[in-house]
Amino acid sequence: MPAQVVDGRAIAAAIRREVQAELKALAAGHRPPGLAVILVGEDAASATYVRNKAKACEEVGIRSVQIHRPATISREELLTVLHTVNKDETVDGILVQLPLPPHIGERSILEAVDPAKDVDGFHPANLGGLLTGHPLFVASTPLGIMEVLDRFRIAIEGRDAVVVGWSTIVGKPIAFLLLHRRATVTVCQKWTRDLDRHTRMADILVVAAGQPGLVKGDMVKEGAVVIDVGINRANGRLVGDVDFASVSPRASLITPVPGGVGPLTVAMLLKNTLVAYKARIGLARQP
Ligand code: NAD
Repeated sequence: MPAQVVDGRAIAAAIRREVQAELKALAAGHRPPGLAVILVGEDAASATYVRNKAKACEEVGIRSVQIHRPATISREELLTVLHTVNKDETVDGILVQLPLPPHIGERSILEAVDPAKDVDGFHPANLGGLLTGHPLFVASTPLGIMEVLDRFRIAIEGRDAVVVGWSTIVGKPIAFLLLHRRATVTVCQKWTRDLDRHTRMADILVVAAGQPGLVKGDMVKEGAVVIDVGINRANGRLVGDVDFASVSPRASLITPVPGGVGPLTVAMLLKNTLVAYKARIGLARQP
């Protein structure tokens, strides 16, 4: 039987509606939530991402504050910007659009974000929380993947999960989220020998390698759940890391590219901002 194809746009729209409804219910008597988005330099792709995030915020009732600085800004000046938004009581979430110019040093900037406002989940305190099983915020792409698995009621406990790629923004966090849900997790990277030997074991296969068409049909177990995180431009179109044509007849569930995991990333960012907001206005545990 051909795989069920996940409609990430529809799930993202449902999440946005849920966030919007909750914010509407909170609107009376509370200030609006705020997300500060910091953009450095003139990279066109980054500017587009920031615009999309701002638009998504406005649509659900989150005030987005865009802070744009030139690529020539020094690390110290950028740290001053961060300290200001950290202290701003009307800002619930802070997002630093990556990549930053090389002279700034991403790590020092990400470490300067208040962990309680770190809706991207990149601060070491939040990454550490992920390790111990009590994360404050988790990066939105892995959260979006869990949302897909849960909305499709995919059993995780006791199953073999294989993650291809171990980046800090996708591979590592999804591996830990799956571990905490009691999957047996294998993490592969570009030095892994015989990648197919591992991928063929997967009941749940998450591919985040940035290699177009890396995973082919004969590398996937019959009935596997296949999550394709890759976003690659090839021959003028967007393709994933999974060869959809050969994998979808073998999988039970698959996320397409585009229209799979991608749209969920912004939706989960909105959800994280809602969590941060509720904590800050005293309606939930301080994250
Ligand atoms: P990255 O470059 O930081 O990491 C890639 C990982 O894949 C590395 O750990 C590397 O060892 C591994 N890898 C590379 N080639 C491999 C191979 N041949 N076999 C096995 N492992 C291999 O990338 P990233 O930031 O994690 O992103 C991965 C992909 O996901 C990219 O295509 C990116 O555009 C996409 N992405 C999508 C979203 C989304 O919203 N859907 C979010 C983040 C990243």
